[in-house]
Amino acid sequence: MLQHTPTSDIEPTYKRLCDTFHSGATLPLAYRRRQLLQLARMIQDNQTALEEAIFADLGKAKQEAVMSELAPIVSSALQAVDKLEEWNKVEKPEVHESWRSGWDTTIYIVPKGVCLIISPWNYPYILSLCPLVGALAAGCAAVLKPSELSPATSTILARLVPKYLDPNAYAVVNGAVPETSALINLKWNHIVYTGGIRVGRLIAAAAAKNVTPVTLELGGKSPAFVDESTDMEVAARRILFGKQQNSGQLCVTPDYVLVPRHKKAELIAGFEKANKAFWPDGALAPTSHIGKIVNPGHHTRLTSMLKNTKGKIVIGGQIEGDKRIAPTIVDDVPLDDVLMEDELFGPILPIVPVDDVEDALRVIRERPYPLVLYCFTESEDVRHKFVTRTNSGTLVFNDTFSQLAVHEIPFGGHGDSGYGSWNGKHSFDTFVHRRGSTNVPIAADPHLAFRYPPYNNASYEM
Ligand code: NAD
Repeated sequence: MLQHTPTSDIEPTYKRLCDTFHSGATLPLAYRRRQLLQLARMIQDNQTALEEAIFADLGKAKQEAVMSELAPIVSSALQAVDKLEEWNKVEKPEVHESWRSGWDTTIYIVPKGVCLIISPWNYPYILSLCPLVGALAAGCAAVLKPSELSPATSTILARLVPKYLDPNAYAVVNGAVPETSALINLKWNHIVYTGGIRVGRLIAAAAAKNVTPVTLELGGKSPAFVDESTDMEVAARRILFGKQQNSGQLCVTPDYVLVPRHKKAELIAGFEKANKAFWPDGALAPTSHIGKIVNPGHHTRLTSMLKNTKGKIVIGGQIEGDKRIAPTIVDDVPLDDVLMEDELFGPILPIVPVDDVEDALRVIRERPYPLVLYCFTESEDVRHKFVTRTNSGTLVFNDTFSQLAVHEIPFGGHGDSGYGSWNGKHSFDTFVHRRGSTNVPIAADPHLAFRYPPYNNASYEM
């Protein structure tokens, strides 16, 4: 049971954070370094409790929790510690026009201020704490608002964050719609929202009233195209690996597969082989690590789609009460099928046969820009077509999911999958303002005489 933060506490918390930020306490790099190290320490000291909480919410196996949530938070906090000075360095851009070169042209990297990070239930640690790494490195104060649908992880975050981080600058507000509504009515200097598009629109509209910049990390149907040039067995293994993470409740999960018709049987044979290797006793056997669907509502949504699809279930399909669903591959799914309407956000993978790469590009381009586009190919020509003729937040060749481990590339959406990004330096950039500055020497005034009125009609050379 999640203990909601009393709504009467929200404004005083916000004011406390504003006062701390305006006092300058979060500015020294030594302070930021300490907060980042404390965040890493918070994860390391409490690994077992954090694993237990995520198991309670999602049935997530320890190995998966460490690999996809806890370890990346520690590594990105430590990367930020290493890079703190470099990222915060004042820039002195080269001035193209030599007569302005004495103007002390500078770009200061300044924290945006007091920020709000709203996160969903599916990756409750990484989606709140990795953006927080950016806020800490930038010297911002921040409120975290985790999801009410993952109560055990939201509870542990509320307990640990004030214990490890400066409680005057960092706070967790727990709750659902009333608490989030109270939060978004306040004037923040930046909001990072991760979740579905419906609520994303509400957040962006509320932020617009205060001209607050927003990062919207949304979802969508991320396709995987498997080209005839690729090794079907490896492609199938890598796609199923990405699909089964967190039981498909992952924003970057491959949502559907496009494969040339003549290669479909080979791909399905690859899925069968991978399925057997991953779960030798069956995906829902007690030995399997497959986690649960977050709540009965989402379980019903997924199982009713399986009942109503016009496609044919070729792998999986087993359902356990209102908890787990075996990773399920559905063949010959038409484009107007129930499985092709919205983001599936579950362990179901439709296969949509296409004629060739051009047909796949048509299907992709007729749909909203996805968060990720996966393409399995050995062909330079196909790679070029995907780079130049498609759009998506991220474009990944020959693997799924692993792009998140590369801190150097931005993680974010494009079009309907959102805007803005985080990850490594990109998280930092989200929370800073690049403040341009010049200092025109008083002594230079005689050289500026030409700009002062009165003006005449003489023509000037440009
Ligand atoms: P959710 O229901 O947990 O909601 C996300 C946050 O919004 C929560 O903190 C919740 O309290 C808040 N919220 C919910 N309703 C609200 C309302 N009416 N007003 C104000 N706040 C409200 O998450 P979800 O939307 O079910 O998350 C799943 C979606 O998130 C999927 O579409 C998925 O693709 C997307 N997602 C995107 C990313 C990404 O990085 N792009 C990552 C994970 C999930």
